[in-house]
Amino acid sequence: MNKESISGLILAGGRGTRMGHVDKGLQPFGGTTMVAHVLARLEPQVATLAINANRNLDTYAACGVPVWPDDTPDYAGPLAGLQAGLRRCATTYLLTAPCDSPFLPADLAERLLDGLRAIDADLAVAVTEENGRRQVHPVFCLLKAGLEPVLSAYLDGGGRRMDGWYPQIRVTEVLFDDADAFRNINTLDELRELDPARVPRLADVVSCLSAYDPDALPVRDAQRIIREFVAPVRATEMVALRAALGRVLAADIVSPIDVPAHDNSAMDGFALRGADLPADAPARLRVIGTVYAGRPFDISPQPGECVRIMTGAVMPAGCDSVVPQEFVSVDGDTMTIAPGTIRPGDNRRLAGEDLKAGSAALRSGKIVRPADLGLLASLGVAEVPVQRRLRVAFFSTGDELRSIGQPLDEGCVYDSNRYTIYGMLQRLGCDLIDMGVVRDDPQALEQALRDACENADAIITSGGVSVGAADYTKQIMARLGDVTFWKIGMRPGRPLAFGRITSNGRSAFLFGLPGNPVAVMVSFYFFARDALLRMMGAEAPLELVRARSAAAIRKKPGRTEYQRGILARGADGQPTVTITGSQGSGILRSMSEANCMVVLHDEQGTVQAGELVDVLLFEGLI
Ligand code: AMP
Ligand code: MG
Repeated sequence: MNKESISGLILAGGRGTRMGHVDKGLQPFGGTTMVAHVLARLEPQVATLAINANRNLDTYAACGVPVWPDDTPDYAGPLAGLQAGLRRCATTYLLTAPCDSPFLPADLAERLLDGLRAIDADLAVAVTEENGRRQVHPVFCLLKAGLEPVLSAYLDGGGRRMDGWYPQIRVTEVLFDDADAFRNINTLDELRELDPARVPRLADVVSCLSAYDPDALPVRDAQRIIREFVAPVRATEMVALRAALGRVLAADIVSPIDVPAHDNSAMDGFALRGADLPADAPARLRVIGTVYAGRPFDISPQPGECVRIMTGAVMPAGCDSVVPQEFVSVDGDTMTIAPGTIRPGDNRRLAGEDLKAGSAALRSGKIVRPADLGLLASLGVAEVPVQRRLRVAFFSTGDELRSIGQPLDEGCVYDSNRYTIYGMLQRLGCDLIDMGVVRDDPQALEQALRDACENADAIITSGGVSVGAADYTKQIMARLGDVTFWKIGMRPGRPLAFGRITSNGRSAFLFGLPGNPVAVMVSFYFFARDALLRMMGAEAPLELVRARSAAAIRKKPGRTEYQRGILARGADGQPTVTITGSQGSGILRSMSEANCMVVLHDEQGTVQAGELVDVLLFEGLI
């Protein structure tokens, strides 16, 4: 093959939307990055290589090949990358492949070139066949560099589809038989599954943010980094139905039966044939018997006949409607209905209308609530696959802390954080390891962190992560693993330590929450909670509701503020939130009096009385 005539272009300019806007090509994979894999696969196939990217240009350039951003603004899609490549291509042909296809065929260029030459096409595109379905892979293509004017005209005309310009050129499809080779990776979970040995580094995750300043990190960025970094614990168990309450389903629950199993009556009344109801005259039907719920019967009414039926009883053959008993008059064995009382089909529950056999009744990842227990019971399910409980170790740090039962020496406070943290973790359904209070002493801290790490999936500490001089917590945390210390653009709760520590071959995710009691709760709810749920394999995003602010709230744009509030109905019945008294970050009473937290986002300024704000309700919060 004449590889000298081909330049390779790796398309890495996308937004990575499905990966949470991370830069896909730079995601760690098999010990390096995805783009490095694609580079290595293409290298032997072409004369030169380049990368089309629109972010992190320096990081891509470190791969040792030219990096070409799109010439068009606004992410016009892969065609814009193709255009940038064609404009700079110095060979006869350009070969493209996406940055998220680390398994691409070793003979991609050769096969596409053969196909193109065979009929003197302008562009050869890879196709595969899976289960008889033809799948075109438009981003795996080889094309003549001279096509640039045609493509540019198409883009100038607003065209964006990868195959939208095919009608103007001569295209040939080349069939490859290894469909897996074209597999691309769209989500971080897919990536983890394909590369289980992969232990992401915080630096990898952080490198994907366009601007990253650990000393002024927006809440959203911190949440995103945490979410990307933690991984679900993959261990499941079977539990008896009742024990599944509050647990996370580890598999879809497929209904083994139709629910209900038969058409049945939704009312106490008379089952009849809809065809027996005249539109404008009363119907007189002969009552030939009674059917009860759960009792077998052998009655099939003929035209002009009906059957007395109880709620839940199986509909007799031929009957399609039920008239409630209070709407009819009965005289001996004759039942009379006025015209227009019901329509044919009324008051009948259809077999399978709740659930069809073979359909998913509940999805994996759902936290089982009382209604789900009932639903599972209605399917006859006795045992349920759930994720194993997450083990979380927690302790407080600080020489000034005393435990309940100890005398309160001068300058000391009782350790309250351990109790709020206990409460919040307990509601999440974690297995808890309460490690007490740990002194601000390097040896004690190291020992506590190591013990926690060896016995738990996650560790939650409070105190010692701000700039206080006596705090060794940060140093020890950093020494034990991949931990970062942030100052988050929020109030209360600016400092946060996050990462993963390792001890004796075991690792655990670490959340070093600040010491202030209110800050502890705020940072738990807005950072740790979501991460722990993700580790538990559950999806339960925080639901914010909108409510009217009773009064003006002063607020500076540029940081997120969390204020304790009381949500109640205003005089006009609309939900209205009032900020509770003192908002100091050490004042737990305000938290206890509140029934919600008002979330004032980064970009928000002072809120006027009557304006709508986001509110997180405490009740119902797990
Ligand atoms: P630190 O983050 O360690 O500097 O602590 C900040 C403030 O929170 C100090 O006033 C501490 O006394 C207080 N604090 C830290 N940990 C706790 C705790 N477990 N219970 C109550 N207050 C605490
Ligand atoms: Mg402290």
